Amino acid sequence: MSHDANCFYCTKDARLDELMIEVCPLSVTTLYLFRDQTHRGRCIVTLNDHKKELFDLGGDERRAWVDDVARAAKAIFEVVQPSKINYGAFGDKNSHFHLHLVPKFEAGVAWGSMFEMSPAEKKLASSEELRALAAQIRLRLK
Ligand SMILES: [Zn+2]
Repeated sequence: MSHDANCFYCTKDARLDELMIEVCPLSVTTLYLFRDQTHRGRCIVTLNDHKKELFDLGGDERRAWVDDVARAAKAIFEVVQPSKINYGAFGDKNSHFHLHLVPKFEAGVAWGSMFEMSPAEKKLASSEELRALAAQIRLRLK
């Protein structure tokens, strides 16, 4: 496994805690719930290994990654019941391969356009709300 001491997905330090809480580990990834709940149920699926590009994943790892993403998205969908989930892979500022799973609602925030990565006005959920939502999602991943 590759590890980068400067990467918060590898170190799981305060920089990560500030942005999200862990929902649970999956097969080759870990699922996190965003503290900013502008989009209720917004999560990140991050590869456990520090790799940069999708093509850096071996065949088995890539298939496991797709399965993890599908399982996570289904669990989020069941809990939040959005109109659609958006899948965003960027990584300009942290190249550790990860995917944003962003539930969207028709006539809701940013419907029909790109979700805002870091909105100026965030809807920060309380730790209690986040833990409850994470528990609901985790329950559907068993
Ligand atoms: Zn990393």
